[in-house]
Amino acid sequence: MPERRFSGLMLLLAAALVAAMLWDVLRGGGSPASSPASSVTDTAPPASLAGARAAAAPAASQGATGPPAKEEHYIDLLARAETRRQIRASAGVTYLNEILAISGDSMLHRWDNRITNPVRVWLAPGTAANYQPAFLDAVRAAFGQWQDAGVPVRFDVTADSANAEVVFKWRVQFDIDRTGQTDLTWDQDGHLESGVVTLATFNQLGQPMGPDDIRVVALHEIGHLIGLDHSLDSTDLMYPVAKVRDLSGRDIQTVLLLYRLSPGSIR
Ligand SMILES: [Zn+2]
Repeated sequence: MPERRFSGLMLLLAAALVAAMLWDVLRGGGSPASSPASSVTDTAPPASLAGARAAAAPAASQGATGPPAKEEHYIDLLARAETRRQIRASAGVTYLNEILAISGDSMLHRWDNRITNPVRVWLAPGTAANYQPAFLDAVRAAFGQWQDAGVPVRFDVTADSANAEVVFKWRVQFDIDRTGQTDLTWDQDGHLESGVVTLATFNQLGQPMGPDDIRVVALHEIGHLIGLDHSLDSTDLMYPVAKVRDLSGRDIQTVLLLYRLSPGSIR
């Protein structure tokens, strides 16, 4: 009898484990199919010049059909469940859960292993009206702020245009309410591969941007460049319409969590 009771207990445990896994997968509601290399266009915050605010345009992603779903391995399922658990557990301290709730593909995108091999950035002077040499220092300062926050990615802003993975562009103004834009590509496993960051020299009201306004917009756009999307909280710099001019604790904790997790689908 003890054996029978024991094996019955094992059966119950096994059934509970399967049910828990199914529940987690079903609650995710997503198929494990991964996305292909994609590009996303994000909005930028306005510079808070004279109280001017740009309207937030939603992040628009252009998707394509993905590669065939891979055979799911049990270990992968468990790893993703653990990733989701960590993201849920961090709610409030980070906004990674908010980002994923809004995103269409349930994927984490980030650079991988780019400390000893820095991401090559082409950061060149612009010719747009009101372009100022101090803008380059402002962008470098913005990179430095993210680096000082502990983001484990290095950027080499002295790369040339021929071999750059990230390109900065300057333009006078956007046609819609924004002062910056970041377009990214990533592979099917969520590894970021390239980016184009475009910064405007005038805000949406036609007022000239100053160097510190450029720093704030660059800080937000570099947030996208390292894999963040928008926060729903206006005290975070990654709020679509920036109301603060420096990184919040949540901005920092969110990116640090992102870089502790594996990129790719969490479903
Ligand atoms: Zn944005």
